[in-house]
Amino acid sequence: MPSTFTYTFDTQLYKGKSTFNTGLFINGEFVDPVVDAKIEVINPSTGKVITSVSAGSDKDVDIAVKAAKQAYKTSWGLKVPGSVRGRMLSKLADLIEKNADEFAALEALNVGKPFGTARMADVASTIDTIRYYAGWADKIQGKTIETNEKKLSYTRHEPYGVVGQIVPWNYPLSMISWKVSPALATGNVIVLKPSELTPLTALRLAGLCNEAGFPPGVINIVNGYGHTVGQAISEHPVIKKIAFTGSTATGRKIQIASANSNLKAVTLELGGKSPNIIFDDADIEQAVKWTTRGIFFNMGQNCNAGSRIFVQEGIYDKFLPMFTHAARSLQSATGDPFHPSTKHGPQVSQTQFDRVMDYIDSAKTDGANIHVGGLRHGSEGYFIQPTIVTECTADMKIVKEEVFGPVAAVIKFKSEEEVIEMANNTVYGLSSAVFTENSSRAIRVAHALEAGQAFVNSFNSVEKNMPFGGYKQSGNGRELGEYAIDMYTQVKAVHINVGLKL
Ligand code: NAD
Repeated sequence: MPSTFTYTFDTQLYKGKSTFNTGLFINGEFVDPVVDAKIEVINPSTGKVITSVSAGSDKDVDIAVKAAKQAYKTSWGLKVPGSVRGRMLSKLADLIEKNADEFAALEALNVGKPFGTARMADVASTIDTIRYYAGWADKIQGKTIETNEKKLSYTRHEPYGVVGQIVPWNYPLSMISWKVSPALATGNVIVLKPSELTPLTALRLAGLCNEAGFPPGVINIVNGYGHTVGQAISEHPVIKKIAFTGSTATGRKIQIASANSNLKAVTLELGGKSPNIIFDDADIEQAVKWTTRGIFFNMGQNCNAGSRIFVQEGIYDKFLPMFTHAARSLQSATGDPFHPSTKHGPQVSQTQFDRVMDYIDSAKTDGANIHVGGLRHGSEGYFIQPTIVTECTADMKIVKEEVFGPVAAVIKFKSEEEVIEMANNTVYGLSSAVFTENSSRAIRVAHALEAGQAFVNSFNSVEKNMPFGGYKQSGNGRELGEYAIDMYTQVKAVHINVGLKL
């Protein structure tokens, strides 16, 4: 029998207990994996083990898929009215809200997010997203299309059936909400894999699924590693659609595995190297604030982080000291995620810490200037100082590759034409931003940037009812908004002959 685990929080910001089962959640119950294996879950603020959770394998994925398929056949899909599916999603949102502080505390413990941010950003947006899609569940509609008098022609938007979902570690809970909510609203059943680094909120959420009323098998959560559980989901012949958020390298593997198995529909939300452009006429105070948030929010572990900051030459000498001041302030607010003054926590793991430090070293070797930060913070955990790199050129690794850490590359530019060229000189195309008080220029540049998101005078102000996704190697398909509903349904054209004779 899989065991439950209780963690006691005795911090300044949160006192309480969290109890969750550490097994795999399959067919409405927690079970042990077929082959006994465990993953240690680490607290990134200390480097110490929090607990161990079960690690599944392809055998467990297979069992989960069978349970999901059976649930789809008997107790979900279009058999259940949309309003009923919506009610269960609403109930799930209510249950998360009831335990919101506990969810935030788990996210702060496991990911290192400042507790307040986890509560106000991750958990609040999760509740909001689930409620938004609860509202969609009874509004999935096809069209009647005029063809000729003797035919009734219409479309149905039908679920895929069993869908696979693989989520990353940077927003463990809210990424689950982005994937699970539209999938369930449209009548699909789910086999989901959390990141092996951050499974705690997924396990706590699994414990609420029965109470929310979901029939057994509708939601299955299989913890495990990417090369085992993730690969098995990508290859499984019964899974018809897969949605993934994570690195471009893994996205490519998933696409190949899907193509080589049963040509699943694949949506990918991958990495980025997003440009943030600040023109001479920008409102500088606002530009500095949004830019700081754009790159350093979530310790830079953001797929759409504004990591290439292009500053026009006329404002550069004013902007840089103000941005430097903002980075230094964040540095002095770095530390324990449960301390009230903390605004900047650790990177998620030793591997990510090493990766980011390697990028900082590469910037030095390539001749860039570490203008501020660049060092480890403290003596335990995986903290890195908010870092600004200047004197960068287009060929440097720090400018070309996704760092996924608190490292901003600042680049000076002269003209609008030049900066559009520089901004688009990347294999990625997730987000972009432009800061200017000239509205014609703002619109012109926003339209010229090759990216799925273009923010004007803000950064990373993602909305649940606006689509989110990438151009180029930042992925394909869209999450959020009505667009995600399309991603979880397939269109059937129904042609009914009402008198056409041969
Ligand atoms: P990753 O892509 O390896 O992991 C993301 C998810 O994919 C995890 O759940 C992982 O277990 C799973 N996975 C790994 N290999 C798999 C495979 N072969 N088949 C199926 N699933 C698999 O990311 P990472 O190694 O944890 O981080 C590496 C880099 O990825 C980061 O530095 C960052 O650049 C990027 N990243 C991006 C995002 C994003 O939001 N776009 C999120 C996390 C990481």
